[in-house]
Amino acid sequence: MTTSVSESDFALIATASVDEAIKLRDRIKEDLGIDLLLERNPECKGGGCAVKIDVYVDRENESSLKAYFEKKQNEALADPAAYDPSKEHARCPACGTEFSTRLTECPDCGLGFGAG
Ligand SMILES: [Zn+2]
Repeated sequence: MTTSVSESDFALIATASVDEAIKLRDRIKEDLGIDLLLERNPECKGGGCAVKIDVYVDRENESSLKAYFEKKQNEALADPAAYDPSKEHARCPACGTEFSTRLTECPDCGLGFGAG
């Protein structure tokens, strides 16, 4: 069984910690019924760095997933509780990560909160 990901068959959608990647995969499975592919980020070759996981979706489901993220992003923008720049921290509505509002995108899943 091979673990190599063919870029013609799969699109990289996020790079996340192991926990976040699993959470994301479970949520996408639950919400969309799509199986995401998780693979250890090749940049980390086991040299003491935190393991990062590349999250892939097959090309067939790429557009559904992008639409899903866009919808989540619109919900985030519509919901001031999710991202309030006057507060110090925001919680990503897509993956639940808390991050500083000095950032305009989620450091874990890359969901953007920029005003445009
Ligand atoms: Zn996120």
